[in-house]
Amino acid sequence: MNFDLTRVRADFPILAREVNGQPLAYLDSAASAQKPLVVINAESHFYQHGYAAVHRGIHTMSAEATTEMENVRTQAARFLNAASPEEIVFVKGTTEGINLVANSWGASQLQPGDNLIITAMEHHANIVPWQMVAARTGAEIRVLAITDDGELATEQLASLIDSRTRLLAVTHVSNVLGTINPVEALVAQAKAAGLITLVDGAQAVMHQKVDVQAIDCDFYVFSGHKIYGPSGIGILYGRKTVLDTLPPWEGGGSMIDVVTLPEGTTYGKAPWRFEAGSPNTAGIIGLGAALAYVEELGLENIQQREQILMRYALDKLASVPGIQMYGPQHRAGVIAFNLGPHHAYDVGSFLDQYGIAIRTGHHCAMPLMKHYGVPAMCRASFAMYNSEEEADRLAAGLTRIHRLLGG
Ligand code: PMP
Repeated sequence: MNFDLTRVRADFPILAREVNGQPLAYLDSAASAQKPLVVINAESHFYQHGYAAVHRGIHTMSAEATTEMENVRTQAARFLNAASPEEIVFVKGTTEGINLVANSWGASQLQPGDNLIITAMEHHANIVPWQMVAARTGAEIRVLAITDDGELATEQLASLIDSRTRLLAVTHVSNVLGTINPVEALVAQAKAAGLITLVDGAQAVMHQKVDVQAIDCDFYVFSGHKIYGPSGIGILYGRKTVLDTLPPWEGGGSMIDVVTLPEGTTYGKAPWRFEAGSPNTAGIIGLGAALAYVEELGLENIQQREQILMRYALDKLASVPGIQMYGPQHRAGVIAFNLGPHHAYDVGSFLDQYGIAIRTGHHCAMPLMKHYGVPAMCRASFAMYNSEEEADRLAAGLTRIHRLLGG
């Protein structure tokens, strides 16, 4: 393995700060990852030296900014192994990407009596947009269950599909359990039945190399802020043959061909047809820097390093008295748990006093909490910059809390 943890940590200035008088142990990257200097500098450099409105300008800076932005589209296509940059739509994040597909594909294609399949481990971002469009169109939502080990009950998929099933939307990696779903097999099964497929990659792209042509999905979506990039920017990949047939979902500047009054406006081609209004250009440029950064480190190296750390942390936490851990052994990025009878908020507040940042609550996955019969969980998430020492501190902190609170 080729991974220099000390060097990587030094790239993230915020990791050097203290919280409550303790060195920060940032174990909340699944909610949002910290940013390396190259990302911070790329945005800052653009604002200092290159900022201008894109697309409409004849002047040099506008043309330069447009080229920079379009270069990131090409870079993102390469990053996902998309066949063409025209399959890459800039969106605000995963949530907007899924809403775009639900409102464009869903609202234009779904008929009363059709059905859509999602899973019981989805983030609300991959549930609510489908429920909204189902309510508008008269479609029905079907749910692929999960097993007690926190895996998808994939053998049940066939029984959910009938002649009116139109879509499978599934997360690549669970944001709560870390389960790595067999998306290639699921997509193959869905495609064989003629379904459109969407994969939520929000928790996957920073942990492993993603190849959308190998997965063979129609849509793949992720957020920049979870892959060490800026917030407010994300990527929707759409297979060209599907994207080209879809209507826009937002109207405005930059997405049109010709505008006429009182009606008769025609739209531009994909992907620009889906990018109404002025884009988050600095965010796009920052995202380009983030993708280049992880590619330079190498996603295979990152994956190997994180797997070693995950196994270490799982072993360490297993020895904490009173801990209940959720999810499968083989997983990416996150460990969800509860400590004795104590509410996750209490545990998280104590850990914060020790300088350890974790996530507590329902993790935007209320159906998953219901499956486990708990209102909330604690979630420690591990990114490539986390260390064994931070896992030790988490385990020691939890042991101390257990001693203090009992239970
Ligand atoms: N899907 C998953 C699996 C996620 O973890 C998240 C973020 N927690 C989202 C979707 C939503 O991402 P965003 O808030 O960046 O749109």
